[in-house]
Amino acid sequence: MRFATMLSDVLPSLFKSPMTEMYPFERKEPPVHLRTLPSWKLEDCTGCGLCAMDCPSQAIEMIVLDKKAKRFVMCFHVDRCTFCAQCIYSCRQGCLEMTPENWELATLNKNALTLYYGDRVDVEEVLATAASSKDAQTTAG
Ligand code: SF4
Ligand code: SF4
Repeated sequence: MRFATMLSDVLPSLFKSPMTEMYPFERKEPPVHLRTLPSWKLEDCTGCGLCAMDCPSQAIEMIVLDKKAKRFVMCFHVDRCTFCAQCIYSCRQGCLEMTPENWELATLNKNALTLYYGDRVDVEEVLATAASSKDAQTTAG
């Protein structure tokens, strides 16, 4: 009886095409409301830091270089983000959003999981400051 049941399950599957999807050669459309990597509109940002404060994973660092001149850099730790969308709800300016396109985040390079958003010159300044403080720590150690 059991063998007959097994055969009735197995035999039809021999004539069906495989369920496997040929990713990455074939891609399905992501769901419209998929929670993905937040993107940021610098031009609307006030540098208030609410997004960073409310993030339960400390995935966001808002670096304010000059508030009056709107020189802000957002450091985003992709590997800490849980895609909870709290930052999106917290931003009163509506400058954070999740778009379904940004969902392929797998990488073998850990450094690629730390992203810097902002004006290129400002990002370079932040990176240079971080590098020099790292050098100072190494020398002191
Ligand atoms: S989605 Fe959630 S975990 Fe990710 S940065 Fe926003 S608040 Fe933090
Ligand atoms: S909450 Fe919005 S306006 Fe405030 S720092 Fe974050 S992104 Fe900018």
